[in-house]
Amino acid sequence: MSLAVVNATREGATVGLRCLDGVVAALGPEVVAEPGDETLDAGGAVLVPALVNGHTHAAMTLFRGYGGDLPLMRWLTEKVWPVEERLEPEDVYWGTRLACVEMIRTGTARFWDMYWHPDATSRAVRDAGLRATVGHPLFGLDEDLSEIEAIALASLEAQRQFEPWIGRALAPHSIYTAGESLLRWTAETAAELSLPVHLHLSETEQEVEDCVAAHGVRPAAYLDRIGLLGEKTLLAHGVWLDREELELIAARGSTVVSNPVANMKLAVGGVFPYPAAREAGVAVGLGTDGAGSNDSLDLFADLKVFALAQRHAAADATAIGAGEAWGVATGASAPLLGAGRLAVGGPADFLLLRRDSPELGVGELATDLVYAASGSVVETTVVAGRVLMREGRVEGAEEVVARAAERAHGLGIG
Ligand SMILES: [Zn+2]
Repeated sequence: MSLAVVNATREGATVGLRCLDGVVAALGPEVVAEPGDETLDAGGAVLVPALVNGHTHAAMTLFRGYGGDLPLMRWLTEKVWPVEERLEPEDVYWGTRLACVEMIRTGTARFWDMYWHPDATSRAVRDAGLRATVGHPLFGLDEDLSEIEAIALASLEAQRQFEPWIGRALAPHSIYTAGESLLRWTAETAAELSLPVHLHLSETEQEVEDCVAAHGVRPAAYLDRIGLLGEKTLLAHGVWLDREELELIAARGSTVVSNPVANMKLAVGGVFPYPAAREAGVAVGLGTDGAGSNDSLDLFADLKVFALAQRHAAADATAIGAGEAWGVATGASAPLLGAGRLAVGGPADFLLLRRDSPELGVGELATDLVYAASGSVVETTVVAGRVLMREGRVEGAEEVVARAAERAHGLGIG
């Protein structure tokens, strides 16, 4: 399968790009279509790498707007968790398909997910044509863990059929919903199977206080003691990490994914300390979190809030540059996320941005992308060399929206 994009604009020059089997085979001013290529005339549209959503719960599109004015723990215990007990794989499938349509429309090619029925999530991602690392969710404090572990192993085995486009991960929800023995099992199993681990960490100040009270150390040190802080560990949130924890995370090579919009919506009261994380050398990515707590999956919106929150919290307009913020959103600052570079040999995941969009017409591109643009500037989304959105149209989107609404209605939340 080969695709040629011609007449694209990149760094002020007109370029062509050829993709072969999901990989960029050629990129530059001299590149033209070859016989047998599917050809896409970009008409001068701006070529940029696709975005990476480093933390979400895709199927939670079904929960959009449900209990949206409650604080975190009440939202989870009174609204989300009771409905999740009734979730069926088809709910997760259509909720994830809906999320994928939204991500394709707004330029996300790859995401890290954690949710119930990961098999249904993977089927949906495959059918939508995106890439994802799908985490098997783990909850369990004091109960007998043997059943939870057996289900996880069976699910991970079943998930192998979706590789390599869809990766597998172990996803203990958090240190307050997964007990020490489950976390230890996660660390051992992840090492044995060479899988990444994806969990929420240090989202609220309460979580930190409870961790210190129960374990005598702050959350990052607690994870390290268990053996869960490694190069394949993705920590979502990290709002309350202190300098010592950031240094430990950097030393272990773990990645932190900031979710500023979800943090603000759930009013956690703090901002992920990005400048300190950068200084310590921590790999950082950007995420939306689930649509239940955002409620959008348009990563452009999160990108703007991320940059603004950092500047505001630091009382310093130079706290983060636009180009640097853009790099965080495309996964360039966190290799674990798997984005690769938009270059020959890299994954053919890219966007063509509307040449006629007023937000991009004037000014320096990175600044426009961070502060002026929204996902609506994306005209074409290509993932693994396949055109998933062409001139603003995602095939089958109407059916996906209708089926997801039906499932939400069936759960009594839509
Ligand atoms: Zn989350």
